[in-house]
Amino acid sequence: MAALIETEGLSRHFPAGEEVVRALEGVSVTIAPGEFVAAMGPSGSGKSTFLNLVGCLDQPTAGHYRLMGEAVETLPPDRLAELRSRRIGFVFQSFNLLPRTDALGNVELPLVYRGLRRRARRERAALALAAVGLADRMGHRPSQLSGGQQQRVAIARAIVGSPDLLLADEPTGALDTRTGLSIAALFQSLNRGGVAVLMVTHDPEVARFAARVLRFRDGRLVADTRQAPADAAAMLAALPPPEQAA
Ligand code: ADP
Ligand code: MG
Repeated sequence: MAALIETEGLSRHFPAGEEVVRALEGVSVTIAPGEFVAAMGPSGSGKSTFLNLVGCLDQPTAGHYRLMGEAVETLPPDRLAELRSRRIGFVFQSFNLLPRTDALGNVELPLVYRGLRRRARRERAALALAAVGLADRMGHRPSQLSGGQQQRVAIARAIVGSPDLLLADEPTGALDTRTGLSIAALFQSLNRGGVAVLMVTHDPEVARFAARVLRFRDGRLVADTRQAPADAAAMLAALPPPEQAA
């Protein structure tokens, strides 16, 4: 099968006064459709820089990147924007929801840019919210939802356009252990449905749920290993119910 992501010597340098910060240096990696990959490494090791390049939110200083066979650096801006909006969903640690818009409105948003009619948008947004377990929270604003629920809204927004790739930067970083586990279980379930997941995390407990782990250090990819992923839903089910927890 053709690669989903293919990078070759991907580098991103930031000028910092007289110096240059080598945030990413010579990263060559191939990810197939439908993989679940965790990107790990200490703070400042280049994980977010890598994710932003893969998500076409930033451009490399050197190297090459092909997304679904398309050489990203050769695409005109409108084609690139279209590829990004149709193929990629983003999830961030801080949810990034519009505060004065309800869950349905937040999830609908990516479809507005696709020119879908309001009724079709709302139907698809409702389906995406149901898929993340929030069918009964569509009219709630972010402030009326828990952190875990807000992250579910953000995930619904990321999947509403049926992307091939979900990019998540520390998606459980702001959540407690149980809630983080439920979000990991949701990613695993979406991944079983066919969407590839590339998830940045510094937490080895979270990286266990991926089938492949990329390790970054000082901007370099220093390890690329496969593993039998832990089952987040099974681990969640084995936890004592919240009211009994100490
Ligand atoms: P991580 O996500 O692994 O914590 P980052 O990819 O955010 O690391 O950052 C890698 C390095 O690049 C860090 O030293 C960071 O300070 C630097 N860096 C990231 N983004 C920028 C930027 N926009 N301008 C300057 N330096 C940056
Ligand atoms: Mg980061």
